[in-house]
Amino acid sequence: GPLDELIAGLAVDVPDYPVPGVVFRDLTPVFAHGPAFRRMVLGLATPESCDPRVAAVAADEGRPPFDLVVGVEARGFLLAAAVALETGVGVIPVRKAGKLPRARIAADYALEYGTATLELHADSVAPGDRVLVVDDVLATGGTLEAAIGLVERLGGVVAGVSVVIELAALGGRQRIAPHAVHALWTT
Ligand code: 5GP
Repeated sequence: GPLDELIAGLAVDVPDYPVPGVVFRDLTPVFAHGPAFRRMVLGLATPESCDPRVAAVAADEGRPPFDLVVGVEARGFLLAAAVALETGVGVIPVRKAGKLPRARIAADYALEYGTATLELHADSVAPGDRVLVVDDVLATGGTLEAAIGLVERLGGVVAGVSVVIELAALGGRQRIAPHAVHALWTT
């Protein structure tokens, strides 16, 4: 469709970044393009991003499909804040280790290249809160799996998982299952 073509036309493949053998999809030119950024944010905010079962329960309660947007550091922040503004809900950061000042929970995870730890403020999600989780790229799925795990440990309900690009060959979608991933561009 037109949106994935727009994203594909602006994204830049960077060979051997951050390590030899990895081709990094650089989305900063898409973020820098006003109309593309806007359409990307609207695409991530769409109800298509949401689990229909979670959305149905929310609708029965007369509530929007999600109460909060979680963004994963750092590029996820740019997207999650915009999605939250667009949909009228709040935004919460999932951060790399050592960045959050108050009581927090942590998850270690494996990356496409290396390992890392993600953290979430312990009081940022209340039991039953419906959460849309947003990041720029789904690669192996380790990052989103960790972010989802943090939300669920606090009793949050994952209402949806939204990314700009899914690198399908790396199997991230299978790793995140049974949560469905809404990707604007699958490649
Ligand atoms: P995963 O944990 O799914 O293997 O990797 C996803 C995380 O690494 C995301 O937070 C994403 O920002 C980053 N990432 C992995 N590969 C790429 C890439 O090719 N381009 C960009 N922009 N980010 C990537």
